[in-house]
Amino acid sequence: MDKVCLHDKTFTLYLGSSKIQKSIEVIADSLNNDYADKNPVFIGILNGSFLFVADLVRRFKGNCDVSFIRLSSYEGTSSKGVVDELIGLHEDIQNRDVVVLEDIVDTGNTLEKVFELLIKKKPRTIKIATFLFKPGAYTKNIPIDYCALEVGNDFLVGYGLDYNGLGRNLENIYVVEE
Ligand code: 5GP
Ligand code: MG
Repeated sequence: MDKVCLHDKTFTLYLGSSKIQKSIEVIADSLNNDYADKNPVFIGILNGSFLFVADLVRRFKGNCDVSFIRLSSYEGTSSKGVVDELIGLHEDIQNRDVVVLEDIVDTGNTLEKVFELLIKKKPRTIKIATFLFKPGAYTKNIPIDYCALEVGNDFLVGYGLDYNGLGRNLENIYVVEE
């Protein structure tokens, strides 16, 4: 499929599934080198990362834990306003080597919050692996340790990424038509 329609927008093919899979192999090779005997904890950020995590961890040859978290904002009862909270982290990550798995890093706001909340749990090390990275939009200083593909600032869907709920199941990645 060269084009898909989701809600009111049309999207054009941007990255085919074979290119996606090859780029994940490169990250997997690096992680196999760097984490062979470390029994890392891979932590995927839901919802968008589910396909990336599935494809990546199947290529990791050592022992590892795999977990998923969700970042939730809720209105605090105090005057502090919006509070961020991690939902779903049941593993004790103290003294563990953590690798955060993201679908896409854009401004880095999400990543920064996740990073701050995970650091409080005292992992031995924490690294970031993202499938897609938008360097032109990134505003933070947290290093992106592993990145499969750098992309422009356009809005993408597919391979886990949604447009108002649709498109996560597409095996290719598509870019919005202007
Ligand atoms: P950030 O907090 O880095 O600005 O954005 C991270 C989140 O915004 C991603 O996890 C993803 O949910 C969403 N996002 C950023 N860029 C895109 C994009 O091009 N397409 C889609 N579907 N979501 C995006
Ligand atoms: Mg995400």
